[in-house]
Amino acid sequence: MPLPKAELHLHIEGTLEPELAFALAAGNGVELPYKDTEELRAAYLFEDLQSFLDVYYSLMAVLRTEDDFFELTDAYLARAAAQGVRHAEIFFDPQAHTSRGVPLATVIEGLARALDGGEERHGISTRLIMCFLRDESAESAMETLDAAKPYLHRIAAVGLDSAEVGNPPSKFREVYEAAAALGLRKVAHAGEEGPPAYIREALDILGVERIDHGLRCMEDPELVERLARERVALTVCPLSNVRLRVVDTLEQHPLARMMDAGLLCTVNSDDPAYFGGYVGDTFHAVHEALGLGEEKLRELARNSFVASFLEDDEERRGRLIAEVEAYEFTAPE
Ligand SMILES: [Zn+2]
Repeated sequence: MPLPKAELHLHIEGTLEPELAFALAAGNGVELPYKDTEELRAAYLFEDLQSFLDVYYSLMAVLRTEDDFFELTDAYLARAAAQGVRHAEIFFDPQAHTSRGVPLATVIEGLARALDGGEERHGISTRLIMCFLRDESAESAMETLDAAKPYLHRIAAVGLDSAEVGNPPSKFREVYEAAAALGLRKVAHAGEEGPPAYIREALDILGVERIDHGLRCMEDPELVERLARERVALTVCPLSNVRLRVVDTLEQHPLARMMDAGLLCTVNSDDPAYFGGYVGDTFHAVHEALGLGEEKLRELARNSFVASFLEDDEERRGRLIAEVEAYEFTAPE
């Protein structure tokens, strides 16, 4: 049985495996610019965040109907369950779909139908986090928040993703204020390719509770000290960082140093279909490449539940943390 864990940084659109992409393309009469799954996999060799985003957005064209979103999400939950995921907080990008004519209702209803069955079908409790595309305008983000008002009971938090450099958190101050006024919690990607100053902006201007990625905090000792003191969770995605060349190799990844500095780190898969592994694979990879032993893996798993938005179900959180504490490693994770 794998180590129980929560996944807190997962873009549902990033779980689109080549096989499902081709199946949905055929069903929807969408022509993909790749001959077959092999040619598509070959396109997954990225130069940087932008070169990934280009493939990522072009492939989304296959997602059209509510059933497509259901199938995508249910397939993720099945894979995640097999790797020990017991709770998942899932990002989605409404603007990436509404901009190509797919109604927000189609997206949310397809996702929600899969998530509603998540606990019974896969043993995974879930929360949904609506992300704004930071390379789109602040006005577009505000329109997205307005359009989501009929579905707020489905959404736990707002997030901020896509091309980071040149799109600082401060650009989205107003929409984050409006989201908070609607009772939504707040996270944001910061310090992946962007500078440590973006992490400070996310904390001080947007008031986020968690930082997604955040690894560039390591360039700023004062910020590290603050993040550790305030127990701000970082949702680190080591395989993503290697694939997008934020770090050169997994062996050079700062995760172990971040944990030694007292940071509340979790590990996550980000866009697993594109980055070579789901979250259990990621635990295995950091064990191998960084020499993180059983107690460090246990710490990461415990942190994932501590940092999760399970305040409305403390009983479940407590039970899952107790399972992590009692877990007996049989083979390396
Ligand atoms: Zn991400």
